[in-house]
Amino acid sequence: MQNHNLSSNFLDNIQIVLVEPSHLGNVGSAARAMKTMGLTHLAVVTDKDIITPESMALAKGAQDVLQAAMCYPSLNEALADSAIVAGTSARNRSVELPLYQPKEAVEHLAPHIIKGCKCSVVFGRERTGLTNEELLKCDLHINIDANPEYSSLNLAMSVQVLSYELRQHLITNMQDENFATNVKQLMQDRENFAPKPKHEDLESYYAFLEQNLIACGFFKGEHNENVLAQLRKIYAKADLTAHELQILYGTTASMIRHAVKIKA
Ligand code: SAH
Repeated sequence: MQNHNLSSNFLDNIQIVLVEPSHLGNVGSAARAMKTMGLTHLAVVTDKDIITPESMALAKGAQDVLQAAMCYPSLNEALADSAIVAGTSARNRSVELPLYQPKEAVEHLAPHIIKGCKCSVVFGRERTGLTNEELLKCDLHINIDANPEYSSLNLAMSVQVLSYELRQHLITNMQDENFATNVKQLMQDRENFAPKPKHEDLESYYAFLEQNLIACGFFKGEHNENVLAQLRKIYAKADLTAHELQILYGTTASMIRHAVKIKA
């Protein structure tokens, strides 16, 4: 029972993010899907008022989760304080980042969640999903294995699948003694744990790189989105810690200052 309480707190480190849902009923259903699995933090990237008669009706007993949802004007703002981000997609080959099934993905996310990092799982628009640019903001991708002839689940149903797997791993598994021992070990290691950078710090580094690549004429007048996307993939593969990001930032900034001095 004690383990159970302990792991309930782990679910508190998880945020579900819906990007520009067009049907607000889906936001209510997503809140219900989350609450049934013990998740409470919902973020929505939207300029709409998400509290409508339809969303409230579909939330049913999860109206508290819906009413507490945070609305953001952009995905970057919704992810600002997240340290690990997973993006979900019905397409399974979009942007060569690590691609997992829900269960494997949760196994990958769990150590970060257990160590107290904020984790976001991002879901896309009903018609078009997440853009490649949005997927590139994620550390890993999740595809729910489905009928290849019709693989697009309803938005709230995919939230249900992921919320279920998160609960299975972080709560139900705690009944297993070996798992619980590993979790305790991970928690004891917390102090030696090198945290991942916050999403906003990574984004600020990418913006800094882009600005300086433009300034030094790397793009030869044209804005090369492809190179920037490749750079994001390289950094995503490196799985940087916050400290490593600081080193990269510091060394690059120092070289730039030096180059400016030589030029002057
Ligand atoms: N045609 C869109 C489908 C959007 S469905 C596309 O190509 O992505 C709305 C959202 O539900 C998706 O953005 C994703 O977040 C989630 N979703 C639906 N089916 C999924 C699947 N099989 N695997 C992972 N996520 C899925």
